[in-house]
Amino acid sequence: MKRMIRCNKPGCRYCENKGKGHGPIWILSVSAGTRRVRQIPVPAHLKQEVEEGVRRYAEIQKWLKQISSLSLNLLEERKKR
Ligand SMILES: [Zn+2]
Repeated sequence: MKRMIRCNKPGCRYCENKGKGHGPIWILSVSAGTRRVRQIPVPAHLKQEVEEGVRRYAEIQKWLKQISSLSLNLLEERKKR
């Protein structure tokens, strides 16, 4: 996700008078266990690589769900015998 940041320096033309702030900067949000989310700033030159990683992660999650679903079906079949 992207986010604007405020430097809170007096007289900053980006932040003063409800200005938008600086950025946007890119943030990688990673869930680390139950209810813990880490927010890691991503430099612009690594953004594309990080995006690809996130895409691969989502794809692998999808495969795992499919495998899990097939395994459950198999279990139900074997219980019948
Ligand atoms: Zn500022």
